[in-house]
Amino acid sequence: MNPAPHLALIGAGIAGLSCATMLQQARLEVSLFDKARSPGGRMSTRRGDDWQCDHGAQYLTARHAEFRAEVARWQQAGVADLWEPRLWRFDGDSREHRESTVERFVGIPAMTAPARYLASTLSVQALANIQQIRRQAHGWQVCSAEYGGLETRLSAVLLAVPAPQVAPLFKQLAPELVALAGRAVMRGSWALMLRFAAPVDLTFDAAFVNQGPLRWIARNSSKPGRNGEESWLLHARPEWSGAHLEDDPERVAAALLDAFGQLGGLAPQDWTAHRWRYADTEPPLDEGCAWRPDIGLGLCGDWLNGGKVEGAWLSGRALAEQVLRSFVEC
Ligand code: FAD
Repeated sequence: MNPAPHLALIGAGIAGLSCATMLQQARLEVSLFDKARSPGGRMSTRRGDDWQCDHGAQYLTARHAEFRAEVARWQQAGVADLWEPRLWRFDGDSREHRESTVERFVGIPAMTAPARYLASTLSVQALANIQQIRRQAHGWQVCSAEYGGLETRLSAVLLAVPAPQVAPLFKQLAPELVALAGRAVMRGSWALMLRFAAPVDLTFDAAFVNQGPLRWIARNSSKPGRNGEESWLLHARPEWSGAHLEDDPERVAAALLDAFGQLGGLAPQDWTAHRWRYADTEPPLDEGCAWRPDIGLGLCGDWLNGGKVEGAWLSGRALAEQVLRSFVEC
């Protein structure tokens, strides 16, 4: 009897995790690699001595029936729940209190929780920065900066990484997949995490901001299941971030804190800045995923499917379905 096909999946963000979960459920062997310390990718949380703050994805929405069922499963497992912030919008001179009908979900106790939950049943090698994919006589091999040659005799290698990170890995192997990734324009974003010794006396928990350098602000501590010191998150708008991507963090923090102050915010006890070089895609593609069954190379990720956590999760499933169809047909 032939052994089950063995695949490598590079990137343990929500797209890679959803893809690997479905492949493993179909009894394929999947090895996941991520260069970061822990899974989750842009669904991420910074932790300090007595504080934490989600500094990537702020919440997720679930519209597609399959994803709604998955989020319900996460709620059942205690790793996600509804977040109902007092939501405002600042728009020039007007400030409006929004009674939102959108359901917003967050990871519990941090935005990383759903990813950790999915990763717990998968084989994930962290701190493995994959730098090369080699074609060998009996399949593919992946090599990392840290360990050199890792898995060999792979039937397929799937990338679940931001679009600009596709070319270095696939450039000699699949030019049309590289060209597809080249169509996705990913934008940067500055995030500023603020810590306060006491709760901040503002009458809102989150706000969309359509003025100045800010796009979004949120009282991280208002999300369910959080503890520790009060923390707030400020996200800069993509256009502003693009123009200031190479600025030093102090300069960025000064501009964002000034804008926060104009909305009633206070000076924090301390702050931490994080630069996302690839935060979102504008405009996102709607390919769903990409798969070359003839050579066993594929792509998934938010940038292929409308952006956002939901798009990423669905993209991973779409790729898994295509891969499974190929292996079943073989
Ligand atoms: P990622 O999460 O980026 O995962 C890719 C993974 O690949 C990473 O873990 C990375 O370490 C790994 N990787 C890359 N290259 C290599 C390599 N060579 N070797 C090994 N590993 C590698 N979405 C929402 O739905 N709601 C929001 O409110 C929201 N806000 C956001 C705010 C910000 C600032 C940012 C940055 C994103 C936000 N998003 C939001 C988008 C959301 O986070 C993403 O759509 C989603 O998390 C993308 O998942 P992914 O798996 O496609 O990619």
